[in-house]
Amino acid sequence: MSKPRAGLALVAAALVALAGCGAGDPRPVWHTPAVAGATMTTAPGVGAPGLGDPYYPNAGNGGYDVAHYDIAVSYDPDSHRITARAAIRATALTPLSRFNLDLRGLTVRSATVAGKPAATSRAGDELTLTPAEPLPAGTVFETIIEYGGKPSTYGGPGQAGGEGFVQHDGGAIALGQPESAAAWFPCNDHPADKATYDIKLTVPGDLAALSNGVLRSRTAKGGRTTWEWATTSPMATYLATAVIGDYRVRTGTHDGLPVITAVADGLPTTMDDAMARTPEVLDFLEERFGPYPFDALGGIVHDNANLRFALETQTRPVYVSSFFLGPKPSVTVVAHELAHQWFGDSVSVRDWRDIWLNESYATYAGWLWVEHEFKRPLATSFTTAYETAAEEVWTTPPADPGRENMFSDSVYDRGAMTLYALRQTVGAETFDRITREWADKNKDGNVSTADYIAHAEQVSGRQLDDLFQAWLYGRTRPAKP
Ligand SMILES: [Zn+2]
Repeated sequence: MSKPRAGLALVAAALVALAGCGAGDPRPVWHTPAVAGATMTTAPGVGAPGLGDPYYPNAGNGGYDVAHYDIAVSYDPDSHRITARAAIRATALTPLSRFNLDLRGLTVRSATVAGKPAATSRAGDELTLTPAEPLPAGTVFETIIEYGGKPSTYGGPGQAGGEGFVQHDGGAIALGQPESAAAWFPCNDHPADKATYDIKLTVPGDLAALSNGVLRSRTAKGGRTTWEWATTSPMATYLATAVIGDYRVRTGTHDGLPVITAVADGLPTTMDDAMARTPEVLDFLEERFGPYPFDALGGIVHDNANLRFALETQTRPVYVSSFFLGPKPSVTVVAHELAHQWFGDSVSVRDWRDIWLNESYATYAGWLWVEHEFKRPLATSFTTAYETAAEEVWTTPPADPGRENMFSDSVYDRGAMTLYALRQTVGAETFDRITREWADKNKDGNVSTADYIAHAEQVSGRQLDDLFQAWLYGRTRPAKP
């Protein structure tokens, strides 16, 4: 997720004017756990209703590992209702007499597990399935759920919009972090369980239906068109998106990668020009981070006033249009979201507590881009962040900010400052090696802060406890490196 910062002063000012929000990126502080107070205790053979994330204990579910989602959603823009089917292939990690999926609202019409009808029950955002016969540990099984209704958004009282399946006149956008996926498909809604995806979106023939990955086909039938998308690298649930509405869609290739960008009709063509710079930004980041980890590329600019942030949805980030105002929009936010393709998307957190691992590198990439395009030295970006940081940045440890501070300046700015401090300590060349080898060895995986510290020490051959203790866990301002 992205919020404009100092290097984006002009854009930030525009966002303040437009969104009426100082950060230009409202932080989802109103989020609540999927099922508040639900117990983690389970009987033998029963998959836990959560994965025990320290911040979102009920997010995701225990007992199985999803390999693939095949999701088909037919959407009506007038009623904003969907008719959908999800086929989920998973492996039982323990013997399972019943297990949960996450699903917010919507009506389940039928469910089968391993080819036989399964009983279902609902409690909050938990959908419990009881297979006809218990599943032995190690079983690869498919769950098929037919469902539908009007998808909802996450967000508390007083919030305009929110996250999830966010509607606007003539379309909708499925987007959000950390929660959004369960608003439109049943899933194991936590980044610890990544899977591949086929996403088929059927919409009226005059609308575009964009999603992640490669566009396999676009098939017209009876006035409606099905857009079939494939994500072949493992993806966390919150990185799955669906963007439906009137869009100008551009297709092309870059170094053999299919590139698809889209800008909402009615927005200025300067925004198409900004999206067209996506490959240029990718090339710049590849020089620093190593090979791009995915098989497709792109970006989507929307005009949905209820969504005021940018998100690193895998292969195809989604941006609110207010990032690209003016005659020659800055693409620093593109550098941020594309950096997440390495850090966050390919290399994912195991727990939300470690989100600094994502946002530090994305913020740092913004500093690198500002140095590249606007000749503002990296050291200046660091010093400005260091000297202008609010007191909360120093009292909030980025490596355990608390759920309410997951999207705080500490995670973003102090996170990036931590990387800069590491770079100053071990030298730029070693730091770049730490970065590239981290992305390479953890490609398509899940990581923790402890993993990062051990990796940095191993690559640099240095003892770095004091540095990381002060920058990641301290509650006072560390000395300038
Ligand atoms: Zn971000």
